Amino acid sequence: MAEDCIFCKIVAGDIPIRQVYADDELLAFHDVSPQAPVHILVIPRKHISNMNEAAAADQPLLGAMLLRAAAIAKQQGLAESGYRLALNTGPDAGQSVFHIHLHILGGQRLEGRMG
Ligand code: 5GP
Ligand code: ZN
Repeated sequence: MAEDCIFCKIVAGDIPIRQVYADDELLAFHDVSPQAPVHILVIPRKHISNMNEAAAADQPLLGAMLLRAAAIAKQQGLAESGYRLALNTGPDAGQSVFHIHLHILGGQRLEGRMG
């Protein structure tokens, strides 16, 4: 648990969320400020700030995040219409919470291919 990390506080149960999924290593919940009709975050319980801090030992965890995001997208009915997975790292990507998280965005045509 990192000091002053809002997502560590969520993992600890100190901040309420609209939970979508939970297991031993991952948590998924609705983004508090949705940028699309479906906007869900998938986070590891372990604190990793972003991809700059991810290590080879985190490979299974990162893979689990991706596969869980795909399963959640399917559950949300997005498999056919499509969706975007985004993982922001650092200032130019606009990362605002420094606890790694995968955005699942969908439910409408998303503007731009990347941004
Ligand atoms: P980033 O900009 O770092 O890639 O994304 C951080 C995301 O976390 C933002 O989309 C923001 O709305 C979301 N967020 C920040 N604080 C909270 C919170 O307390 N609860 C929830 N559910 N989402 C949050
Ligand atoms: Zn954290």
